[in-house]
Formats: sequence, C-alpha cells, structure tokens
Amino acid sequence: MAYQWSAKLNDNNTVFQAELTALHERVIYASHMPNHNTSKIHVDNRASIMASSNSKSTNETVRKILKILLSNPRIKVSWVKAHAGNIGNERADQLAKDATQHGQPYSHTKLPKLHIKSLLRKRMLEEWPTLWNNGDTGRKIYNIMPSVSLRPTNWIREDVIFFSQHGPFPAYLKRFHLSDSDYCSCGGIGTALHYATECIYTVSSHMRKPAPNKND
Ligand SMILES: [Zn+2]
Repeated sequence: MAYQWSAKLNDNNTVFQAELTALHERVIYASHMPNHNTSKIHVDNRASIMASSNSKSTNETVRKILKILLSNPRIKVSWVKAHAGNIGNERADQLAKDATQHGQPYSHTKLPKLHIKSLLRKRMLEEWPTLWNNGDTGRKIYNIMPSVSLRPTNWIREDVIFFSQHGPFPAYLKRFHLSDSDYCSCGGIGTALHYATECIYTVSSHMRKPAPNKND
C-alpha cells in the first residue's frame, strides 16, 4: 500500500495553508527517500505550486518547502487536474475529507495573520476600558467620556480645544509660559471647564449635567 498522510489543521487556518502543509509534509517524506530515487509530486492546487516556486515568498511553509526542493533537485512538483480519475489524487481528496472529521490535530502551521490581527484587536478592545478607567492621564476627558469606543467622535475644532484644554485659556497660557497668571478675571483658575461650568462671567453658556434619569 502506498504511503499516505493526513492531518487536521486548526479551524482558523485557511485552505491555502492546508494545501501548503500537505505539500510540505510530502516534500519532507520525499527528501528522506534514498538519493537515487526521483520523486514526482502531483498537486492539483495551482496556488500552492505557484507559491512554492516563488523564492521571494515570506510564507513560512513556502520557505521550508523551497529549502528542501533547492537542496533536493530530484524532487519535482507538477500539476495534475483534480477530479479527473487520477488514483493518487482521488485518494488524497478522500483523505482530506476524512481528516476534516477525524484527522490528527496538526499545530505546526501558524494561524493566518488576519486571524491573529482580529484576536489582538479583540484583546485590545477588552483591555482598553480598564486602562481608561484606571489611568492617570486625560482624567478631565474621562469625566466627559467615561467609556471608550472605536467610533469616531466627529469633534469640531472647538470641541478639541475644549476637551484637550489646549486653547486661549489663562491656565493653558501660563503652563506654556505665554502668560504670568492662570487666573480668570473672576478670581478662579481659568481652565476650559471653569468657563464652561463655574465662571460667573459665562453663566449664560454654562454646561449643565443632564437631568438624572427618574428610573435610576
Ligand atoms: Zn472666571
């Protein structure tokens, strides 16, 4: 009976990774055969043939395949039409199908970059609220925006000036040595929040806390 090999990758691996992994295992097997034997490997997946002849590929599995092929010129990879009655090809197809159900788990093929990215993004979004809740910086903005989100806020220039407190306010001007005093003419410290909430000269434009929800 002919040698056969199959395995089951992680659910997050791609079909292309599965094709490359199978080719890699086949190439390893061929490289262990006695040196006088020519090995011809039939593959029905053009993408993995193309990839494994690309010396500039950064795909890790492709690089491993190439390394073996370059040091074993007796190993040849060629394309064969799928579902055309080629016995070896039909058998490989069947093995692949069976492996999706009961295959040996195979973990040497790394997860695709896109999947890793989405995992990292998910992790970041989980940690962000805690970091924002417990942080030391941006506390004034925290009081206005206690929760974080990736949705853009559509702030206009005035919003940015107000929330960042970087604007024509005495407290800001003093901090950057553009003024000697950080006092407002009312006697309070001239911050953006001062004008928006406390200053007696700007009462008519003060911001107010929203009325408490009656159900709270
Ligand atoms: Zn004032």
